Amino acid sequence: MTSLQDKIIATAREKNAAIYAHTYQPQEIQEISSVVADSLELARRSKDGPETTIILCGVHFMAESAFILAPHKTILLPNPDAGCPMANMINEQELLTFKAQHPGAPVVTYVNSTAAVKALSDVCCTSANALAVVKGVPSKEVIFTPDKYLGSWIQEKLGSEKIIHLYPGFCPTHQRFKEKDVLAMKAAHPSAVTLCHPEVNPGIRRHADAVMSTSQMIRYAGEHDENEFIILTEIGIKYPLEKKYPDKKFYFPDMKVSCPNMKKIALEDVLNSLTYGEHRITVPEEIREKAFIALDKMLAYK
Ligand code: SF4
Repeated sequence: MTSLQDKIIATAREKNAAIYAHTYQPQEIQEISSVVADSLELARRSKDGPETTIILCGVHFMAESAFILAPHKTILLPNPDAGCPMANMINEQELLTFKAQHPGAPVVTYVNSTAAVKALSDVCCTSANALAVVKGVPSKEVIFTPDKYLGSWIQEKLGSEKIIHLYPGFCPTHQRFKEKDVLAMKAAHPSAVTLCHPEVNPGIRRHADAVMSTSQMIRYAGEHDENEFIILTEIGIKYPLEKKYPDKKFYFPDMKVSCPNMKKIALEDVLNSLTYGEHRITVPEEIREKAFIALDKMLAYK
């Protein structure tokens, strides 16, 4: 730990604040966080955890979700510029237009979306529970927004059980994997199991042995006897994987796939957040109430 990290931990204790970090955050941020998790677990902890002030080290929609679920808590995002391009690929009007094209189909919205879009949705999901959520919707036709690749993976899994109308959003970071790199890694490490995030496109996904969320990857590596893994998701997951399983080997493409938005939070921002109570994230009550319904339904799914 550096002296700045020690100072942040001491200040958080003094202010009775908790630091939560997404698995894609820089290592130095993960090291000072009491919770390091994926979007689903961060949402659960924000709602049920004992802390009244949460410094959320992630991107804007994660802090919004925390506030929607726990409006009595103070939710701080250390850098207000940390957004998510996928979440910004759909707004309220675009969702209303898409809904009009598929009348009657319920809307399942990935948490990587704005509060206003969640408020217009029937239920939310994360990559950890998207399959179960779509399966659980009592309708053959479903609108899935905004990630077309996560949606296409669910369609593949569910086959003729559902007709999924895919909104054409995507994660620019997860589109940076190159097929030639993946094939080269597989050739170099023939015993490695390839795990892929569902935000990755189908051309890459088809080379994976299993598709899953970040929390599921971390669990999978612990629960299986294999010792080598090729990991196709954002590079931030390298730290928790190697920390948890020092005897196993995890391979990533040479060209590190890193989300520039997830890396916008620096230790200095976290200290400022704790010291000055910035940047407080809230959602207008009429939007929050509707978005709460969609998000809270999501929490019932594992
Ligand atoms: S990794 Fe992709 S989906 Fe996640 S915050 Fe970055 S841009 Fe958004």
